[in-house]
Amino acid sequence: MNEVLLEARNLKKSFGERTVLDGITIQIHKGEVAVVVGPSGCGKSTLLRCLNGLEKIDGGEIRLNGARIDEKGNLAEVRRKVGMVFQSYDLFPHMDVMANLTLGPTKALKRPRAEMEAEAVKALERVGLGDRIHATPNQLSGGQKQRVALVRAMLMHPEVLLLDEITAALDPEMVREVLEVVLDLARGGMTMLIVTHEMRFAEAVADRVIFLENGGIVEESAPETFFHQPETGRAAQFLQSFDYKR
Ligand code: ADP
Ligand code: MG
Repeated sequence: MNEVLLEARNLKKSFGERTVLDGITIQIHKGEVAVVVGPSGCGKSTLLRCLNGLEKIDGGEIRLNGARIDEKGNLAEVRRKVGMVFQSYDLFPHMDVMANLTLGPTKALKRPRAEMEAEAVKALERVGLGDRIHATPNQLSGGQKQRVALVRAMLMHPEVLLLDEITAALDPEMVREVLEVVLDLARGGMTMLIVTHEMRFAEAVADRVIFLENGGIVEESAPETFFHQPETGRAAQFLQSFDYKR
């Protein structure tokens, strides 16, 4: 197995009285795709937000390439190296696709604009959006917007990509076109931690499945095991609620 890229050790996070993450320990290895599943409200989004430094944590630690992430020192670097895409696309509505894509790399990475634009065009072509370069977000479908959001994250050349239910707001016919892009990234060796309710996709893309409930990891297993012979009754019950069959 490759080296550990991103890890949480005994991670704790509360909102007021409510403990949302109660001592989570996970390791994401370079080139690995880990999928997190679990019931709504179990802390999946909070976990991802903690992992890229968007939330202050209450206990434990998070390490990127072995170096501890802390509130003061290296947060900007962490957010650059740990890319994230959310359910809502978060594209700037007044900017066209090209401007949305080149803003981060030119500002944060100081990449030359011409070079960035050439890279952006190639990346858009790869996800089937070569003809949408000058569209504004309101001229795009949800599936197209989410593909642009994925391209935007990738143009920052993150070391690991966190995806938080990126197809949850899409009409069913658009889910596939977005998941195809993610599968393609996985095939290209991108390290990812993916939260999804698309169980068939999860099984196809995951090297490892992490089942989260009530702030803790209930089961962590290979996809063949998790989806067909789960080790815990809770995971079996959860899968039944999706009526998941191969
Ligand atoms: P999931 O993504 O698994 O649905 P979340 O991580 O979004 O779950 O939320 C876990 C719990 O933490 C929920 O009970 C939610 O209401 C609570 N929560 C999330 N963010 C906040 C916040 N900023 N302030 C207070 N409570 C929050
Ligand atoms: Mg969530």
